[in-house]
Amino acid sequence: MKKNNRFATFFGLFSAASLLLSSHSVLADRFKEVEITATPLATNVYMLTGAGGTMAAVAATDGMLLIDSQYAELADKIRAKLATLGTGSLTTLINTHMHGDHVGGNAALAANADIIAHRNVLARLRDNQNFDPAGLPKTIIDTTTTIKHGDVTLILEPMPASHTDGDLLIWFPEQNIVHMGDLLFQGRFPFVDFNNGGNVQQYIENTRYVLSKIDDNTQVIPGHGELTNKAGLAAELAMLEQTLALVTAMRAEGLTEEQMLERGLGEQFNNWHWNFITEARWIRTLYQATTPL
Ligand SMILES: [Zn+2]
Repeated sequence: MKKNNRFATFFGLFSAASLLLSSHSVLADRFKEVEITATPLATNVYMLTGAGGTMAAVAATDGMLLIDSQYAELADKIRAKLATLGTGSLTTLINTHMHGDHVGGNAALAANADIIAHRNVLARLRDNQNFDPAGLPKTIIDTTTTIKHGDVTLILEPMPASHTDGDLLIWFPEQNIVHMGDLLFQGRFPFVDFNNGGNVQQYIENTRYVLSKIDDNTQVIPGHGELTNKAGLAAELAMLEQTLALVTAMRAEGLTEEQMLERGLGEQFNNWHWNFITEARWIRTLYQATTPL
């Protein structure tokens, strides 16, 4: 328990220091060091990482399709990487949801392309004064929709609100790949964005749903973390269920939120703790999720 507290304090200080340092120049330098990497997953289908949400690309003879756009500051690097994967310019961009590390490059990369997203992504980005309107979604997804890019079929499936209220799953049925966006933070506690319609119980339901649809050969692209598979997603589900059960049990015992933070979740969950969603922040999230309305 002491160890957990020290761990939490370290990251508390670390976050405070990061805030003080996050001047414009520091951010610019941070992006300067970022490299975009492309991992082939199937013919013409790639996973791309840089900084922010994991992207995917589909190459076709008449242009590229991209899933998520990370940050505007990375647009030139992303464009350069796409040029190594196929010919033609970006014709289609799909956003998995509305967070800045997934849509920040929309205008810079895709002002002249179709931009596809859940209806609530359009609504929330339109309300955001800082978001360049040239990057707003043009094609709105309300129901499960199949599109084709070159020879590759993609199924866009809007999900019940869980990470946010505008989450899309993107399936590649022929390649047996799914891009989960931030419905999966691989190997770490997830961010559930209550301010944008997030819901912990539904997040768990959506994880169960994806597990029920995939097999041992499915390649699972997370919004953050490493490429994973059914076993990786099952481990995430077990963590979600177990930590929710722990907080529910502590509530039944009559513990306050502060007492829960003091006790912690136990050493077996230390590996899921990270600088954005610390153990303390995850406990607070679960506490809020189990608060009666
Ligand atoms: Zn997100």
